[in-house]
Amino acid sequence: MSRSEAPIGVAIIGGGPAGLSAGLQLVRANRRIAILDSNRPRHSATLQSHGFLTRDGVPPLELRRLGREEFERYPTAIYAQSITREVIPLSPEAARAAGFPDGIGFTVRGAGIRGAADVEFTARRVLIAAGLTEELPALPMIRAYYGTALHSCVECDGFEKTDKPLALIGETSDVFSRALLISRFSSDLIVFTNGADTVRPEQQAQLERIGIRVERRPIDDIVGERAEMTGVRLADGEVIARVGGFVRPRWHAPVEFLGDLPIARDGWGLLEVDDRGETSIRGVYGVGDIVPPGPQQLVIAAGNGARVAAKLNLDMIRGALGVGLVDA
Ligand SMILES: Cc1cc2nc3c(=O)[nH]c(=O)nc-3n(C[C@H](O)[C@H](O)[C@H](O)COP(=O)(O)OP(=O)(O)OC[C@H]3O[C@@H](n4cnc5c(N)ncnc54)[C@H](O)[C@@H]3O)c2cc1C
Repeated sequence: MSRSEAPIGVAIIGGGPAGLSAGLQLVRANRRIAILDSNRPRHSATLQSHGFLTRDGVPPLELRRLGREEFERYPTAIYAQSITREVIPLSPEAARAAGFPDGIGFTVRGAGIRGAADVEFTARRVLIAAGLTEELPALPMIRAYYGTALHSCVECDGFEKTDKPLALIGETSDVFSRALLISRFSSDLIVFTNGADTVRPEQQAQLERIGIRVERRPIDDIVGERAEMTGVRLADGEVIARVGGFVRPRWHAPVEFLGDLPIARDGWGLLEVDDRGETSIRGVYGVGDIVPPGPQQLVIAAGNGARVAAKLNLDMIRGALGVGLVDA
């Protein structure tokens, strides 16, 4: 176990673009910052990341490597390859004894991965930047095509699908608006609801007016030849030729490390935050894909990381002076 001797400013859970960007801003504010990262980015399924200014087309892990290097250049940066297992609030007395004048603090414990030691930090604030885990529709071969032929982020991967015969597979109520978005890239689009009743009749009529068919029959599987997707096979055996497209996964916020701590979530399970990025637990902030409106893009996660870092820094300054969160 590696126990950080001196307390730290912020323990950041997750070293994706949101966590790394927040970390960079906070070490530049002369704060001691620890990033705990389990290195399981959601977009590792893909070979290229698109749309991050100056890094369009870069492999996802390369983007992280560059971000981590920039963060670790600062003497107050700590990067721990570990899975956060516990976040436990300190009592006000224990927090003050740790040197946190506003009586807010946390113990954060992580289990080391790939040979790294377990870690324990005493932190004034916690920033959750753990991204999302995702559950794809239950089709045996869908994982094999996810990140190559099938994607989830239209803004990220729509361009590469221009004018191709596409599928949109989704069992959630936002499928209609996603279909509209994809229609910008290809007019040859079929929406597969996989038996779910998620496209209303008036939405179907609207889609049909712009040439998009809605296929409501259940899907058996995705079919292909070697690595190339060639179609969607329905439960009745019919194969509809498609070379790729988009799938709407169901997303889950991975915050098991909070244990029984009650934290407010929205209808999709994302962490609710106020306009400063603070969750319903005082001193615990959230940023990136894990907060509403949910999964967006690398550049947005990084931008939000910088914005929330500034709010966190100010919260700690105001907390030390006892002047409250905002001016009266
Ligand atoms: C297949 C795919 C392709 C994509 N392509 C693009 C693209 O081309 N361009 C684009 O802009 N966006 C793309 N995205 C979206 C982009 O990846 C996300 O918007 C972005 O990564 C969100 O950043 P984040 O920092 O919030 O979360 P993430 O990048 O998911 O990072 C979260 C990190 O937290 C870590 N973590 C989770 N739990 C714990 C824990 N308990 N302890 C420690 N660490 C933990 C994870 O291991 C991970 O490293 C794509 C997404 C997918 C799924």
